[in-house]
Amino acid sequence: MPDKTYIYKCPSCNRLFKEISLISGNFSNNKTYSDLKKLPSMRFGAICLMSCFHCNHSFWLNKLKPINAFEPFDELPLKYANLAHPFFADIDAYFNALYSDLCENLNEEFFIRINIWWSYNDRLRANRNMFIDDNDKLDWLNNTKKFIDLLNPNNSSHKMMRAELHRNLGNFDKSLEILNTIHLKKYDKLKKAMINECYNKNNLLFKL
Ligand SMILES: [Zn+2]
Repeated sequence: MPDKTYIYKCPSCNRLFKEISLISGNFSNNKTYSDLKKLPSMRFGAICLMSCFHCNHSFWLNKLKPINAFEPFDELPLKYANLAHPFFADIDAYFNALYSDLCENLNEEFFIRINIWWSYNDRLRANRNMFIDDNDKLDWLNNTKKFIDLLNPNNSSHKMMRAELHRNLGNFDKSLEILNTIHLKKYDKLKKAMINECYNKNNLLFKL
């Protein structure tokens, strides 16, 4: 369900764009993937890295102050009606953000690294090759290791992600070791499937 429409100004090129916030909504699909991917949140104020449609500059949408806001189903003034939407950052934009002033704290680093991980897996979800070349694979490897270090070893959803990341790295024993410490019922089905894939020595994303 749509919420308000916000009008923003790109901090780099100053062009206006519009974004429609979504009320927590039921817009995620029902498929469960082994990387627990959720769609980036478009709720107003939720952490979200986007890129400008015009100049490709990346920015945290949650840190921009809207210059105008409209209620759902309001008719937008003509000057705003045809504004472009920004788009979610891609792998390059996430890496650039990581090594720039844009990444200011651990929360932001967490957001960027999980989205890098999911973005590589998105290629598999789209039936494409996971890596473009050896450098691309090396970038993935570095991110995977650093993301593991950011995860809390005592939190169940983090444990699921740590187990999955170790499986992705081919550390099947480590993955099994972590999976055997997870006892939350909501992860039962996925946990069983992940244990199976560890025994099959499959390190790739799979759909439940
Ligand atoms: Zn711009």
